[in-house]
Amino acid sequence: MKVVRTVGELRALLAEERRARAGSARVGLVPTMGFFHEGHLSLMRQARAECDVVVVSLFVNPTQFAPSEDLDTYPRDEERDTRLADGEGVDYLFAPPTEEVYPPGFDTRVRVGGGLTTVLCGDPRRRGPDHFEGVATVVTKLFTMVGPDVAYFGQKDAQQSLVIRKLVRDLDLPVHIEVCPTVRESDGLAMSSRNAYLTVSDRERARALSQALGAAEQAVSDGERSADAVVSAARAVLDTAEVEPEYLELRSIPDLDLIDRLDEPALLAVAAQVGQARLIDNTILTPGGST
Ligand code: AMP
Repeated sequence: MKVVRTVGELRALLAEERRARAGSARVGLVPTMGFFHEGHLSLMRQARAECDVVVVSLFVNPTQFAPSEDLDTYPRDEERDTRLADGEGVDYLFAPPTEEVYPPGFDTRVRVGGGLTTVLCGDPRRRGPDHFEGVATVVTKLFTMVGPDVAYFGQKDAQQSLVIRKLVRDLDLPVHIEVCPTVRESDGLAMSSRNAYLTVSDRERARALSQALGAAEQAVSDGERSADAVVSAARAVLDTAEVEPEYLELRSIPDLDLIDRLDEPALLAVAAQVGQARLIDNTILTPGGST
């Protein structure tokens, strides 16, 4: 595996890969902010299984962090990440310095419109739509830098995946988006780089997020269809663990409208601050059974 720092070098290497395969190389991209865990590695494995050339980007994107957020303290360990990506058979780890992505004078943004980016994590009372503007901008740039045939994202960040699908559709970007299942710890906690912030007692309480989603799944499989009742079942688990959700909402897919009744598959999404970690998780509830 080769570690690449500049767009110029990355383009030259990928052009060579394409030439070597008579222009038909299938290139897969896994965008990440590093500090790899099994969730990241599962995306790399999927890319490795499906593509000729696998590029993983490692870039802690400053434009998607609010000023109050953890940009400076976000966990980083490039040496370990390099080893792990190499172990998954990744071809190129693209780890540019910030100035390579945002050189002086950079002044263009990509904003996905509609309601998608102003609810849940995009609610102005929370991270706000600027968060998804930062995500859409960096992902558009990565797509332009790499020119991937397929890009891999995690269901863990369900709203982000929906935003990126809309971005690709609205701008006719020639890339196929694959969304891979959430990888969890054995007790159900969704893996996240931010789990590193959890103390032992926070870690106990953090389990409540996936348990709450599980309670909602159970309510649905018991026949419950009222959104209020399904959300209440999840809320009760959070209350018991004394976890105050930032949001816990049942919304339509793919538009993320609030719904009253579960007549079609819908997204139950939760976010909560647990100790120093802001955690998110979600499940798709389907009237015929959850996935
Ligand atoms: P991040 O480094 O947190 O920006 O995540 C990079 C990619 O990995 C995103 O597409 C995430 O959705 C995905 N990802 C993060 N955590 C998980 C997980 N537990 N399971 C599956 N995918 C994940």
